Amino acid sequence: MKKKLFHIGEFGLIELIRKAAGRGPGVVRGIGDDAAVLEGTKGEYLLLTTDMLAEGVHFTRSMGGRAIGHKALACNVSDIAAMGGRPTYAVVSIALPPSLELAFAQNIYAGINALAKRFGVAIVGGDTIKSSKIVINIALLGTVKKSELVLRGGARPGDIIFVTGTLGRSFQTGKHLNFTPRVLESQYLVKKLRPTAMIDISDGLATDLQHVLKASRVGAILYAVQIPLTAKATLKEALTDGEDFELLFTLPKAQAKRLQSSRHFRFYPIGQIVKPSAGLKLVDKSGQRLKMDLKGFRHF
Ligand code: ADP
Ligand code: MG
Repeated sequence: MKKKLFHIGEFGLIELIRKAAGRGPGVVRGIGDDAAVLEGTKGEYLLLTTDMLAEGVHFTRSMGGRAIGHKALACNVSDIAAMGGRPTYAVVSIALPPSLELAFAQNIYAGINALAKRFGVAIVGGDTIKSSKIVINIALLGTVKKSELVLRGGARPGDIIFVTGTLGRSFQTGKHLNFTPRVLESQYLVKKLRPTAMIDISDGLATDLQHVLKASRVGAILYAVQIPLTAKATLKEALTDGEDFELLFTLPKAQAKRLQSSRHFRFYPIGQIVKPSAGLKLVDKSGQRLKMDLKGFRHF
C-alpha cells in the first residue's frame, strides 16, 4: 500500500521537507523554529514566518470576517514574538468564493488592519484568487536585535519553564479568534531577562514543550498544580488543546527569581528543565510522577 500523509503526520512531513531543503547564504536558522532567521543589517536579524488558515479547518464564516482577519495576522505576529522580535511588513494572500459578500471580504481586512496598526505592521502586498472555500495566507517579516534572538534550542537543565497566560479551551472560549499576540511580554523578557528558549503554544502545551525539549536536547518536569487553567478547562485540555498562542519560555534560576509579574503581564512558572534522559514528566496534584508519551501521560 502506498504511504499516505497521515502515516507520517504533519511533523513527519515537515522533517522530510527540512532534510531535502538546501540552505542558501545568509540563512542563520531555516526550517525548525517559529520563524526563519536571516542575516540583516546593523546588528539585527530579519525574521520571516507564514501561516495559512482555511475555512472549515481553522474557522467558519459564522465567526465573522473581522475575527478571521485578526486571527490570520495574529498567529504570524505570535511567531515573531516567540523569536524575541517585532513584526514589520506583511503580504496577504487570499482565496475567496465569487459569491462571497463584499462586506465579508472587507471585514477580513478590517481585522487584519486593526491588528497591523496596533503592532506597527505595514501590509505591502499579497495575491487574490478564486476558490470554493476561503483561505488566507499571511507571510510576515520581523526584526530582532542579534543579542535578543531566542531560539527553541537553548533550554538548559535547571532552567525554570514559564507560560504567559492560561491554557485550554481556546476554541470553546473564542480566544483562538481574539487573542493578543504576546509581543510586549516578549520584548520585556528579551530586554530584561534573556530567556534561554521560547516558543508560542499553537499546538498545545505538551506538543510545543516537546519541540523545545527536542531542539534543546533536554527533559522537563511539569507541576500540574502550577499550570494556569482557563476557566472550566481541565488539566488535559490545558496540556493538549491548541491555539492558546501564549508564549512558553525558559529562564535560568537566577533570572527566574528576578521575573516579576506586573499589572500588565503575568508569568506563570510551570516546571523545570532537567537532563535529557528524564524525558517529559508531569507531577500530579498528589505528588505522583507520570511519564508522558505522545498519547498523553501515563504511570511508569
Ligand atoms: P509554528 O506552529 O510555529 O507555525 P510549524 O509547526 O507550523 O510552526 O512549523 C515548524 C517549522 O516547519 C517552521 O520552521 C516552519 O517554517 C516549517 N514548515 C512548516 N511547513 C512547512 C513547509 N510546507 N515547507 C517548509 N517548511 C515548513
Ligand atoms: Mg510557533
